[in-house]
Amino acid sequence: MLCRKCGTEINDGVYFCPNCGEKTEVPQNTFSGEYYKNEPASYKEPLNTTLWIILGVISAFFCCLPGGIITTVYAAKASGNTNSGDIETAKENLKTAKGWFIATIIISAIITFFGVLGSIVYSFTY
Ligand SMILES: [Zn+2]
Repeated sequence: MLCRKCGTEINDGVYFCPNCGEKTEVPQNTFSGEYYKNEPASYKEPLNTTLWIILGVISAFFCCLPGGIITTVYAAKASGNTNSGDIETAKENLKTAKGWFIATIIISAIITFFGVLGSIVYSFTY
């Protein structure tokens, strides 16, 4: 580099100009904010994968087995993705798990509704 005062060529690692004695630029720390950008987002935004695994198991046992199993499978996938730092895939899998859970609840609600309606109609008919 060149001395900022007199322009003399100074070798790297020399802290004072041999010509005029001017202090050279202290090498800037190359450590930048990049490091923080590479931190897994999971630390800032934890995905509640365990909750959805539990909800999937509950719905499998008490309501609709296939929907509950699919919810559990996708929530478990999301949990695995979270552990390996693949947050984007984890979010996608968790979204799928939530979708199946909601669909399962709606379908079971419809089945229950028509079941109750059917039994009411039955009791009035006979
Ligand atoms: Zn100089």
